Amino acid sequence: MRRLPILALSSALVLLAPLPLRAQQLILSDPPDPVVANLVGRLDLERYKATIKELTRFGDRRQGTKRNRDAVDWIEAQLKSYGCTPTERIVYEWHPEPPRARIVIGPNQAVGGGTLRGPRRSTRPNLDSLKQTDLRLRALNAEPTVPGERQQVYCTKVGTEHPEEMYIVGAHMDGIGWGEAANDDGSGTALVMELARVFSSPDVRTARSIRFILWNNEESGLDGAVAYVKQRAGLQGKESPAGSGRYPEPRWLGMIQHDMMMFDHGMPRADSSLSKEQRPEADVNIEFQSKSKMAEESQKLAWLFARANERYARDYPATVGPHMTNTDSDPFKDLVPAISLRENERGAQIGAGWDPQWHQPTDLYVTYSDKDFRLGLNAAQTTLGAIAELAGATMGK
Ligand SMILES: [Zn+2]
Repeated sequence: MRRLPILALSSALVLLAPLPLRAQQLILSDPPDPVVANLVGRLDLERYKATIKELTRFGDRRQGTKRNRDAVDWIEAQLKSYGCTPTERIVYEWHPEPPRARIVIGPNQAVGGGTLRGPRRSTRPNLDSLKQTDLRLRALNAEPTVPGERQQVYCTKVGTEHPEEMYIVGAHMDGIGWGEAANDDGSGTALVMELARVFSSPDVRTARSIRFILWNNEESGLDGAVAYVKQRAGLQGKESPAGSGRYPEPRWLGMIQHDMMMFDHGMPRADSSLSKEQRPEADVNIEFQSKSKMAEESQKLAWLFARANERYARDYPATVGPHMTNTDSDPFKDLVPAISLRENERGAQIGAGWDPQWHQPTDLYVTYSDKDFRLGLNAAQTTLGAIAELAGATMGK
């Protein structure tokens, strides 16, 4: 007697559960598809650097300021110029919440899991405008944040065979620290914009859809990504208007976040100093969260990205780790496969002070060398290769 309702309930749950990535989608083409290598070849170091440089014109792009809104407008105009149209915006309200009680973790525990090792530096964000010694930049970053309406922009490459399914490729465009937020996260924002440019080329088609999104309010606590999930999770896969073949919110197949892509100079020394040079063994850190509901599928996605790195990235390898945390893929991690790409592990490495520019006035375009920019470009090659394979990219008129 009890069986029927239980069966009914479990089949209802199956229907509501997120669509798992199908096995064949998580295998790279064999032999390698020359179309994907061709697309990856359309990425270029000088273009990537130029996009980061342009973003630094808006200072630290702190959320809730004119410089942040101007940056959103500029990003949108760029996406349009690439042919990634129409562009759309998520509108939400942001008001600061009272500070949350800090989660107490053990002395050697890293946020997100993992263990802190070796010498550490302070990682406190800079809150003092006077620490910016460049007076032009100090003035540019002077306006304080005010609560209220916020906007963030995205555009979508619509799939020709499966417009109802999409991958989300994201980075946050806001920053803090009274610098230029060149690395955190101009480097991720430029990466996503460059991918939007390549995939929007009129000779490129994809079987599945890809959404390129530049989150706002990451630095205030992932609020832009949280607003997106809240507003749009329930719209997934619905055709609107009915019969139109249009899907305003295609079903999410995976979320790939890019946050701090360039600086991997190794561990701080005992005196807190760091190597001036990118370490030769620098890597792209691909992280998933082993404690999330989608851990198993997210791990598969992470390994696919590692294989795509071996195939498509020119200079730097990738490393997979299980401690994704504190970035815009967090609000997605229990709903769909979610990973982040970074210069270092967020918890055990950045959390131990491996990036001395992090949220500091020194996060400037001029701080970085081509070896740093090239690590970001290698992450772009990795994601472009993986997404071109997953979304089924083809070329031709
Ligand atoms: Zn960041």
